[in-house]
Amino acid sequence: MKAITTGTPTAVPCGRCHRPLRSAASIARGYGRACWTKTRAATQALGLDQYSDRVATKAEELLETPGAIRRLRGLFFQVVGSAGATYITTPDRCGCPAGQRGKHMCNHRVAVRALALSLGLWAPAPPQPRRTFDLAA
Ligand SMILES: [Zn+2]
Ligand SMILES: [Zn+2]
Repeated sequence: MKAITTGTPTAVPCGRCHRPLRSAASIARGYGRACWTKTRAATQALGLDQYSDRVATKAEELLETPGAIRRLRGLFFQVVGSAGATYITTPDRCGCPAGQRGKHMCNHRVAVRALALSLGLWAPAPPQPRRTFDLAA
């Protein structure tokens, strides 16, 4: 039986897998080495250049800020916005003012998309939108 060791209250969890980080480099980055590689790869796969420069830069900042994004459960993430407000964000929805207006993709959603993609929880919709609605009942 494996002993469960409880970390110190100040243990910094990995931004992707939530395991406590050990090395100083990982703590400074907010991710374990493997998780950071996967998050970077997912960010590239997502293609930040499809979003505006401002949104892309802020999304990267969010991903690089230790503790700024925390997965709650499933596709629900808690994101700390630049103004210090906390939003509940999924790849398709965000509680921030811009997200609620629903007009533009906010940086919180972009960052959450990258993380969710890296975790294998979400994938971008295929380029061809399929509009098949099964309404016949
Ligand atoms: Zn990790
Ligand atoms: Zn948002």
